[in-house]
Amino acid sequence: MTEETTRVVVLGAGYAGLMAAMRLANKTNRRSVAITLVNASEDFNERVRNHQLISGERLPQRALAKMLANTRIRFLPGTVVALDPHHHIAKVETGAGVPVDLRYDYLIYTLGSHVDVGPTRGATQHAYTVDERSAAALAPLLPDLAARKARVLLVGAGNTGVEVSTELAERFPGLRVTVVTRGSFASNLSEAAKRHIRRAFSRLGITLIENTEVTSLDPDQANTISGPIPFDVCIWVGGFAVSDLARSAGVRVNERGQILTDRAMRSLSHPDIYAAGDAAMPADDPGTPIRMSLYAAGPMGAHAADSLAALLRGRQPSPFGLSYLAQGLSLGRRDGVVQFLNWNTDTALGLIITGRIANWFREFFVAFLLLTIRLQPTVPWVFYWPGKNK
Ligand SMILES: Cc1cc2nc3c(=O)[nH]c(=O)nc-3n(C[C@H](O)[C@H](O)[C@H](O)COP(=O)(O)OP(=O)(O)OC[C@H]3O[C@@H](n4cnc5c(N)ncnc54)[C@H](O)[C@@H]3O)c2cc1C
Repeated sequence: MTEETTRVVVLGAGYAGLMAAMRLANKTNRRSVAITLVNASEDFNERVRNHQLISGERLPQRALAKMLANTRIRFLPGTVVALDPHHHIAKVETGAGVPVDLRYDYLIYTLGSHVDVGPTRGATQHAYTVDERSAAALAPLLPDLAARKARVLLVGAGNTGVEVSTELAERFPGLRVTVVTRGSFASNLSEAAKRHIRRAFSRLGITLIENTEVTSLDPDQANTISGPIPFDVCIWVGGFAVSDLARSAGVRVNERGQILTDRAMRSLSHPDIYAAGDAAMPADDPGTPIRMSLYAAGPMGAHAADSLAALLRGRQPSPFGLSYLAQGLSLGRRDGVVQFLNWNTDTALGLIITGRIANWFREFFVAFLLLTIRLQPTVPWVFYWPGKNK
């Protein structure tokens, strides 16, 4: 490395971080820009498949070192424990005892999110989540639980709650699955999509309890204003939260802790920090509300790379734009629903696809995105997103 080398450190190798690092590897000069990618685990976690992980499906193991083998990206397995933006340092715990000081000229912050168990008493102690470790811990217990017709309670009925409950009920028909939600379920979908999901719930024997808030969890029951709901296993799927690292470091964040960025994905408070994916939120309207989703994480990661590459070449970055065309939910392995959206207003249209073809649609989208990420170092143009030039 020469004195003139620009050090870019990407924190988090989820969809946004991997996309950003891979794309930057193509768009910057290998002699003058060094890219380091840090991730807590050595394998890439295909998070949108964590419901399959819970149900015990053997998913392909993807070692990050192998995925990055033919790129010029240096991979550093380790957990980011602190940021010092003033001195341009990320502190990384690598298992060697003392955290390593990783110095950067530019940082891309893509640490994603985790399931938000919130302040509910007992939730941390008595509930599993759909986060990777928790999902992997629960998976081996389920065959026995199914054999004794155990009661599984899912708290939360957003898209993730719908996907997890249907996956479990289909894979383990012996389980008695109940979903409880404080509002109504899948509130962002059209009536037609909801009807299809209700039919899937009833086919799979899933009980849905709406408008019921879980106020606390005991080891064997969820307490609600309408009375207790007994369970053998509870899985918390209610919403995502982000790490407190950015806030603690004095980086400007919103009330959820997401780094506030301009439309170049650049931090409003620290221009040498870019942020993307679940951990970021553009403060200027990019043409649509940004949801914590794979759908948004890929484009945000790509745009962060494009903006930084433009800056390093002395060019003006273009503003980030995004439109949602559709969202796909799996309902087990044989059913699904694709909800088409008005791409200007981001509202659900009456148009949906259901059944096996909808499931394939989601599978195709997830597999295609990962493929385009892997192709970034050679052919970055294969990834283009709707609303890019909004
Ligand atoms: C079961 C499930 C189903 C889903 N289905 C869909 C779907 O159908 N469509 C959709 O659009 N979205 C879906 N999502 C949401 C989607 O998975 C997330 O929005 C997406 O993964 C966000 O990508 P990201 O790169 O920002 O973060 P992540 O994918 O969370 O990646 C963050 C990375 O940072 C690493 N990391 C975190 N903290 C640290 C640290 N301190 N040090 C080092 N590394 C760290 C993590 O290990 C991870 O590799 C689903 C989520 C779940 C859980």
